[in-house]
Amino acid sequence: MNPIPYGRQNITQDDIDAVVAVLKSDFLTQGPAISEFEKAFANYVGVRYAVAVSNGTAALHLAALALNVKPNDKVITTPITFAASANCIRYCGGEVVFADIDPHNYCLDIKKVEELLAQSPYGTYKGIIPVDFAGYPVNMEELRKLADRYGLWIIEDACHAPGGFFIDSNGQKQLCGNGLYSDITVFSFHPVKHIACGEGGMITTNNEVLYKKIQLLRTHGITKDPGLLHDNHGGWYYEMQELGYNYRLTDIQAALGNSQLKKADEGLNRRREIANIYKEAFKDKSYIIGQSGFVEGHAYHLYVIEVENRKGLHEFLRDNNIFAQIHYIPVHTMPYYKQFGWNIGDLPVAEKYYSCCISLPMYPTLTDDEQVFVIKTINEFYA
Ligand SMILES: *Cc1c(COP(=O)(O)O)cnc(C)c1O
Repeated sequence: MNPIPYGRQNITQDDIDAVVAVLKSDFLTQGPAISEFEKAFANYVGVRYAVAVSNGTAALHLAALALNVKPNDKVITTPITFAASANCIRYCGGEVVFADIDPHNYCLDIKKVEELLAQSPYGTYKGIIPVDFAGYPVNMEELRKLADRYGLWIIEDACHAPGGFFIDSNGQKQLCGNGLYSDITVFSFHPVKHIACGEGGMITTNNEVLYKKIQLLRTHGITKDPGLLHDNHGGWYYEMQELGYNYRLTDIQAALGNSQLKKADEGLNRRREIANIYKEAFKDKSYIIGQSGFVEGHAYHLYVIEVENRKGLHEFLRDNNIFAQIHYIPVHTMPYYKQFGWNIGDLPVAEKYYSCCISLPMYPTLTDDEQVFVIKTINEFYA
């Protein structure tokens, strides 16, 4: 059996052809492939505006800048995420406040967020960054209602959830990133995610003001748009109006992303199939403490189970060439965040989850035989 990772990209000849076509074209960056990818992605998630950027972390940083995060602004997020969800607040000098997770879906516990908000004077917190962890679609309708009561903005970190959706109170599907409930949503196109660009990210919003600001910040804060210029010296003229960054995606990456997007639904269906097989395989097992919440619309970036003797299982799988992973070490326990007063013991649900979680192989090209082998190996360990 070949090594089985927890996640991997699926690159086909179509993808290679799309990249080669850009390499032979006039533009390697700032060309037409970017806006094609942006339009196609906006269409995929059902949003008005999409801005392609160099990676998911850059997307989070620009989202925080566009929402005007300032030094000491308090923003709430989850400890069970990749560090970047919290770091984007620190880039702007803001203060990260971690709230505990829901033990069933591993996302921010809305009740815990509500407690935090209720304990402080109105205006103490500026925003919330929920994460659709593992692809579980956060109920954004509910979170929006809470955010509105306290005047907060929402950046939805949907890096795990392109194509995911929740069912709203009217029974309608609401796709992650459709801009109805979050101010801004961000996605990542790292190869372990659903759509691979190598490195890449996307920002979606229905808010035109935020859209324009994000576009400006993506390229150094520089614009040539005649409608935005304060002055005009001639055809060469541009203005730097804000302190922006170079967070552009290349056309090479955009072409790959666009080609990948065409098979995103196929990949998502396969992920849901794999999830169902795991679910069935583990449903009566005594060594299972918990497993990924099953809801319609789950995007299954990860398939997580909680088990006894997680460390032993992790090593046993490795010995059998199965490279399961742990998602995530709680961010508030990282040495960097400890300097702000966070410590082990602060968020017991997240910490308990971390002590027994393990992410099993989950990607569209995982074969039936490989999945059978993974399940068999886990059963063997606990036999
Ligand atoms: C991958 C990821 C990011 C960062 O994306 P990059 O493209 O690697 O910068 C942010 N948040 C979450 C939840 C992620 O999984």
